[in-house]
Amino acid sequence: MPSRPEIARLRKTSKYRNARARLLATSTVCWICGREGADTADHVVPLNQGGDPYSALNLRPAHHRCNAMRKDNRASENLAETSREW
Ligand SMILES: [Zn+2]
Repeated sequence: MPSRPEIARLRKTSKYRNARARLLATSTVCWICGREGADTADHVVPLNQGGDPYSALNLRPAHHRCNAMRKDNRASENLAETSREW
């Protein structure tokens, strides 16, 4: 399981950039909101859950904003689960 610094480093590699460029050349339809103009490649299976960082199968175009929102939602879900357990 890669740590956060490892994931940050991985996103700067040319291998990842190439994979992202190939993906966005194929389609810029954001897989989260369904609109065009995606500017980032989102990982379907997050890297910290063992997702393949370079596989086209694990990359989907996403807006930076949508991607950030999705993470926020997940964080609040986790908080809700925690408060339910309490
Ligand atoms: Zn979007």
